[in-house]
Amino acid sequence: MSNTTRREWLQAWALAALASGKLSAQQQDKRPQPLPINEYEPKSMLHVKETHVARARFPVIDFHTHLSFTNASGPTEKANFRAKREEILPVMDSKNIRAMVNLTGGYGAALEENLNYWQKPNPDRFITFTEPWFKRSAEPGYSKFQAEQIERAAKLGAKGLKVLKTLGLFLREPAGTGKLVAIDDRRFDTMWEACAAAKFPVAIHTSDPEAFFLPIDRFNERFEELNAHPDWSFHGRDFPSNRELHEARLRVVARHPKTQFVFLHVGNAEDLAWVSEWMDRHPNIAVEFGARIGELGRQPRAARKFFDKYQDRILFGTDAVPYGKETPQQIFGEKLYEIYYRFLETEDEYFDYAPAPIPPQGRWRIYGIGLPDRILKKVYHQNAERLLRLK
Ligand SMILES: [Zn+2]
Repeated sequence: MSNTTRREWLQAWALAALASGKLSAQQQDKRPQPLPINEYEPKSMLHVKETHVARARFPVIDFHTHLSFTNASGPTEKANFRAKREEILPVMDSKNIRAMVNLTGGYGAALEENLNYWQKPNPDRFITFTEPWFKRSAEPGYSKFQAEQIERAAKLGAKGLKVLKTLGLFLREPAGTGKLVAIDDRRFDTMWEACAAAKFPVAIHTSDPEAFFLPIDRFNERFEELNAHPDWSFHGRDFPSNRELHEARLRVVARHPKTQFVFLHVGNAEDLAWVSEWMDRHPNIAVEFGARIGELGRQPRAARKFFDKYQDRILFGTDAVPYGKETPQQIFGEKLYEIYYRFLETEDEYFDYAPAPIPPQGRWRIYGIGLPDRILKKVYHQNAERLLRLK
């Protein structure tokens, strides 16, 4: 009997046995059992090199962290510190992090609290960005007020402006229609210009992963994440599409050529060809890659070319949040940095992009891109030093 014939015969026998209830208990146990997807934790059987990169090869400026958030619910804005200085500094020392940029440095009184707590005692280690005072954006005279707030922040010692994805996805006209405020709304023109005058880089997060705009179903590559956090989805309702959001941001960039923009999360990390088009067209765009090594590392050949071509315009960032349990790929700590360094410095294959038992941003693993020293230095600190005018 040939192998194929034998297999067919066995299959036919098994089906007949199953139908007549003649399968033994032992045979029945071997039949596949359904397994909930969130319980599946396959261990890779690949025997490949595992490099432990305990320290970055060159000093690092982490351009994208969240050491505080602003609580705007009370009569004055309050800074909510996510950790104490003493919890952050030892990790920085051991991982060769020269400085961290706290992007969510807030506005109003919260900005001063942040500057006083983080930056003033350690001006070489902590850098503070301010944020737009969105709560006031519907008030008369907002454009002038917001431009003045940028000047005030610069005088106080802030080093840039952070714009959350709030703009485009959450900020709505408080009265009347409740329509979403567009990213290129004219009322912010004075703010972008004030940033150019103050030499503030604008760190801007627009839209979200492409999968967040699709139905949460079995075809969605981020199903588990969205299923656990359905409120992260922008599918349906009155949300603009991913493309519309990015196009609105590009109109802002084109309108304000003297303003330096830093597109957070690689702009749109799933489509490096599209991001390249933007960067070729607009010299005032740089990118940062916090919380996106999962995307870059699953397309290592395209990512490597991207780093080569735009080596002077890419900034190191992690989007680190101390105790950020909701986003395992961003929990501040030694493990997080080791993964980023491994991705950038080694050619290791097929490793986890987040310090978590299950890949939290999609079920895949990543490959290191082994950057040469010349590019590593730029990405780790030189590009950020130039943009932040640290030298
Ligand atoms: Zn962030």
